[in-house]
Amino acid sequence: MNRDSPHLAASTRVPGDRFLHSPGPTHIPAEVLNAMHRQPMDHGDPRLDQIIAVCEAGLRRLLRTEKADLYMYAANGHGVWEATTDNLLAPGEAMLIPGTGHFSEQWARQAEATGRRAIRTPYREGYPIDPNDVEQALRGDRKSEIAAVFVVHTDTASGISNDLQAIRAAIDAAGHPALFVVDVVASLAAAPFAMDALGVNVAVGASQKGLMSPPGFGFVAVDQRAGQVAAKNPAPRYYWDWARRKADYSYQKFCGTPPQNLLYGIEAALALLDREGIDAVFARHALLARAVQAAVERWAREGAVFLHCRVPAARSVSVTTIEVRDGVDVDALRTVARERFQVAFAGALGPLQGRGFRIGHLGDVNAAMILGCLAGVEAAMRVQGIPFGRDGVMRAVECLAAG
Ligand SMILES: *Cc1c(COP(=O)(O)O)cnc(C)c1O
Repeated sequence: MNRDSPHLAASTRVPGDRFLHSPGPTHIPAEVLNAMHRQPMDHGDPRLDQIIAVCEAGLRRLLRTEKADLYMYAANGHGVWEATTDNLLAPGEAMLIPGTGHFSEQWARQAEATGRRAIRTPYREGYPIDPNDVEQALRGDRKSEIAAVFVVHTDTASGISNDLQAIRAAIDAAGHPALFVVDVVASLAAAPFAMDALGVNVAVGASQKGLMSPPGFGFVAVDQRAGQVAAKNPAPRYYWDWARRKADYSYQKFCGTPPQNLLYGIEAALALLDREGIDAVFARHALLARAVQAAVERWAREGAVFLHCRVPAARSVSVTTIEVRDGVDVDALRTVARERFQVAFAGALGPLQGRGFRIGHLGDVNAAMILGCLAGVEAAMRVQGIPFGRDGVMRAVECLAAG
């Protein structure tokens, strides 16, 4: 046993739970942790095939697709990003990536690093994607060089969700054949999404956010048209290759050993979502997000902290990004909240780094956890001498009571 591990050091043990309010990884339900506490199976065990089939069916249901092929990876979100660009685009081919802030930019850079061409629309801080930008960019592409539009549904850095239906309509209005690829890593099982109805060709997700499971598992749903594009794509690839993974044998499906214990967890998480009912899951997320955002609006009355997203309808149900006035030390605030009040929330990313923080409210979260989190943030702001409207938690209580 490594006695230097911070997990084991007696001095870091705190009574009770530490509230995890990062927007991924998120709190993991006991049912999921317990399901993972089992021995792996041999590769030929039919029970393993059954678990994989249940996970595939559950993810398809969650994505609301009947026709798409599902590919699962022992990989995080960045891994399935690469799986998507490697399969869909040949080196030198172009993708349009509407600016949503940090995550669209990371996806674009990753695509560029592997030899693809990323065409960006600008991100206007605090605002969702303007579908007009997408339409104009596609109309300007007279030779149809853009192979796909890559859209981040909910950008976890900005806390902004984009209107997928409006973006689909913009692609159609431009009469452009580009594939519609959507990153649902931060929105799946939190906000409504329907792959088939939205005309999404590829959807990309991961385990550690709305899916309430440990990090390390990613998946891609691929419709027939995208599958055909991939089949013709000459880009060299092996581990990510969809064609190679189209198999019945579990070892081949995962291009090697399946991450079995993660699959046990995903299976349990999918069962929990089923049991609660997906509409109830969405309603819970919407209510908790309303409570958090109402509290922040009250805090903002003193001018030191305020909501990053300027468009109320575009505020994410998964995560709330809070900007701070110059001079507020976000890192110190986070440290006080985590170490003194046992509330762990996230810092801001990309251009907002140091200028904000983020409260995650997705996955296995309930009203009491949200109130504890908000009260912990208030306590930490008080310790740090940050001025804030004092009735934030009270406003959240009112929201939750009203339902
Ligand atoms: C978290 C996240 C990713 C990246 O996932 P990792 O598992 O951290 O690689 C990609 N896209 C969005 C929208 C995310 O929230």
